[in-house]
Amino acid sequence: MNDAFPSLEQLHAIGALQQPTYSDPVALAAAVEKLRNQPPLVFAGECDQLKSSIAAAGRGEAFILQGGDCAETFAEATADNTRNKLRVLLQMAVVLTYAASVPVVKIGRLAGQYAKPRSSDTETRGDVTLPAYRGDAVNGYEFTPEARIPDPQRLLDVYHASASTLNLVRAFTTGGYADLRQVHTWNSEFVRNSPVGAKYEAMGSEIERAIAFMEAIGADLDEFHGVDFYSSHEALLLEYEHAMTRIDSRTETPYNVSGHFVWIGERTRQLDGAHVEYFRHLNNPIGCKLGPTATPDDALALAAKLNPKNEEGRLTFITRFGAGKVRDGLPGLVEKITAEGVNVTWISDPMHGNTFSTSNGYKTRRFEDVLDEVQGFFDVHHALGTVPGGILVENTGDDVTEIIGGGEELDEAGLVHRYESVVDPRLNRVQSLEMAFQVAEMLRS
Ligand code: PEP
Ligand code: MN
Repeated sequence: MNDAFPSLEQLHAIGALQQPTYSDPVALAAAVEKLRNQPPLVFAGECDQLKSSIAAAGRGEAFILQGGDCAETFAEATADNTRNKLRVLLQMAVVLTYAASVPVVKIGRLAGQYAKPRSSDTETRGDVTLPAYRGDAVNGYEFTPEARIPDPQRLLDVYHASASTLNLVRAFTTGGYADLRQVHTWNSEFVRNSPVGAKYEAMGSEIERAIAFMEAIGADLDEFHGVDFYSSHEALLLEYEHAMTRIDSRTETPYNVSGHFVWIGERTRQLDGAHVEYFRHLNNPIGCKLGPTATPDDALALAAKLNPKNEEGRLTFITRFGAGKVRDGLPGLVEKITAEGVNVTWISDPMHGNTFSTSNGYKTRRFEDVLDEVQGFFDVHHALGTVPGGILVENTGDDVTEIIGGGEELDEAGLVHRYESVVDPRLNRVQSLEMAFQVAEMLRS
């Protein structure tokens, strides 16, 4: 195997899937060149820290909570949105930490989640067929021929939107907003008035009492001031990801400096594909999605190629089988990987195997299916004596109506009210919090 970091041309020569067809190669090359000169968004040392936390989760000493939008959009990269996303993840994390007494590794699907793989290259509405929307990194969501043309300038827009989101996240997580003593202020009016919000308030008061006790005995409360929060996205567009990959001066190895954790999607994980070739060179902690078509041998071959030194924390398998398939499909993969002594952190994506379209034309998921897949994931690992290391969810800090079921008993007709996702349906704030309480129960048992 050639171990030099491949050029963009070499990666394209392999034939990368899910890439846009740009019509202006000169504009594309200019955008890539500009990107190559942009400062890093994250530091290699931070990626290393996350890698050791993911390793801890793989050993059962921590639990990973990864969450955020299916697809971020430039229009939604506002201060309010970022704060709302952050606080729902902080709420979920504190529920998991407190109820299950386990440290939670917090990773946002944000500051870079702008490119989407699509199952079809085109989208048809009525008698009009246009190129599919591939995320704001590529083209516009508006259903017009002009908007759907891939525009290389958008790659630079991704960089700038990600930089401003991450800057705000860093300010929030180190500047006091994420201080555990703020546990009550993360709860919004809306959530507070729901049953799960009340449960959260009660837990928040217990935490406050515990903190007051520690203060009284003279413990150092500065520990509670900030949190480690990491960014992640699917590294899909080779132009962007390659330009944002730099050789780290300490280790002389390539790091993707556009996010701490990057993953390979279900549609681009071919063993001989361009994405696997690109990812195997990165020194970041990386993920790879595995769906129901993945065989135990596929998983083993991917692990051998993506983590040849069998380093702990480097490779996370993100399984997304669907509630109906996880109990039958997952054990084979876990057994094989475990029997071969391969180090992998397992996390459950209970979203992507559970998507369906309603009769009124919405892409949705059932809250009950989402929870059932996580339960299946825990059951399989408990039965095999292996470690359920975390969850990856698509959620938002807003009160959207995109996923049916849950305590609010949202039904299909209710989807019309606030369906705002441009790609996949997300858990709203209440559903996110409900999920955290339920997963905390699973972690405890
Ligand atoms: C996603 O995470 O939004 C996604 C497209 O997932 P998958 O690759 O598992 O289909
Ligand atoms: Mn998605």
